[in-house]
Amino acid sequence: MAYDVIVVGARCAGSPTAMLLARQGYRVLVVDRSTFPSDTVSTHLIHPPGVAALRRWGLLDRLVATGCPPIDTYVLDFGPFALVGAPGTEESPVAYAPRRTVLDKLLVDAAAEAGAEVREGFVVDELLTDGDRVTGIRGHALGGGEPVTEHARVVVGADGLRSVVAGSVRLDQYHEKPKLLCGYYTYWSGLPMDGRFETYVRPDRGLAAWPTNDDLTLVVAGWPYAEFEANKTDIEGNYLKAIATAPEFAARVDAATRAERFAGMAVPNFFRKPYGPGWALVGDAGYNKDFITAMGIQDAFRDAELCVTALDDSFSGRRPYDVAMSGYQAARDGQVLPMYEFTCELATLEPPPPDLVQLLSAINGNQPAMDEFARMNAGVLSPADFFAPEHIDQMMTTNLPRA
Ligand SMILES: Cc1cc2nc3c(=O)[nH]c(=O)nc-3n(C[C@H](O)[C@H](O)[C@H](O)COP(=O)(O)OP(=O)(O)OC[C@H]3O[C@@H](n4cnc5c(N)ncnc54)[C@H](O)[C@@H]3O)c2cc1C
Repeated sequence: MAYDVIVVGARCAGSPTAMLLARQGYRVLVVDRSTFPSDTVSTHLIHPPGVAALRRWGLLDRLVATGCPPIDTYVLDFGPFALVGAPGTEESPVAYAPRRTVLDKLLVDAAAEAGAEVREGFVVDELLTDGDRVTGIRGHALGGGEPVTEHARVVVGADGLRSVVAGSVRLDQYHEKPKLLCGYYTYWSGLPMDGRFETYVRPDRGLAAWPTNDDLTLVVAGWPYAEFEANKTDIEGNYLKAIATAPEFAARVDAATRAERFAGMAVPNFFRKPYGPGWALVGDAGYNKDFITAMGIQDAFRDAELCVTALDDSFSGRRPYDVAMSGYQAARDGQVLPMYEFTCELATLEPPPPDLVQLLSAINGNQPAMDEFARMNAGVLSPADFFAPEHIDQMMTTNLPRA
């Protein structure tokens, strides 16, 4: 067998998977139809848990060296009031939003440095099987070329939402929800953010802004998917109308200069069983959700670590393949399900329920509780823990006027 693992897709999920496997001495081939650096549709905010993964992997200094500004404050504006808090922890205090041209190149290079063979501009057309299990890939170089086959003990699909790996195997898809939101974004110069992530929740509209590389600020605006057809012929007009629902922010955008074209999309929400005989899935290929909570990159990083641990356990004989990989699935689902439900609720852009409004108004001005809320929005604290009755009681108690 030429390789232990072939990874299809070399962005947030694929390159870390290849890097971590190669660092453990496995023979890894990672292929991608893209060449790097290259962009992809994403607003690329990485909350502190994702930043912590980059630090664990020894890659954070490289990201910081690109000049990407840190984000230490989250402003969550609900109209009548805004909650302002710190999103991180002592060990990982800030978020970053590096351009995907920057982030993905850094990850691909790290995979290559670790010893993975990286093949860019290579399209996987189908999986090879021996009837029972996946044994490799068949693909071709972009722009033509003879079909090429490669074999491995396991093929990992890190090939995103429209995964060819997921599409080639029989798998279960569960917790499915339709497209809920469509979002469009572009970049602005002359819109300083001073280390802030800002989001504005308005009836049927959501906006957010954060700083990225090259002194640019990304501003995204979204509306319900039900309005997709009606609004698609005038993205710019509808984007600016959405921004106008937050007048002070709109005045800042008005004084800035748009630097790039609009990009955007709507995505379906689903979990897929992330493994089977000879194959596994990481990142969006295995679990996709609306981007309103910006969890995709840190989820991809977490999948890479969990999946590599499971594969290593199986290859080294510590656990049978099915046991190790079902552990990967259980850990992934257990960690993300509360945030998935919260994300899908938020993505409807329906007004927050009265008990939530009451809770958020009650913690307004209570810094420890606002920090907790910021941390929940950053994926540091699970919504299940944040909304637990005892946690709410605790926040309310700390909100009592001090004697
Ligand atoms: C509008 C939008 C905004 C978002 N904003 C954020 C955000 O702010 N923060 C956040 O954390 N997440 C965000 N996300 C989600 C995030 O972008 C994804 O979760 C993340 O990119 C998933 O990484 P991945 O490696 O699984 O897949 P991808 O980034 O999609 O990479 C898949 C790779 O596989 C390759 N590939 C696919 N098929 C083949 C094939 N047949 N052969 C060879 N290569 C193939 C592709 O070329 C691609 O490079 C956003 C998503 C969208 C759509």
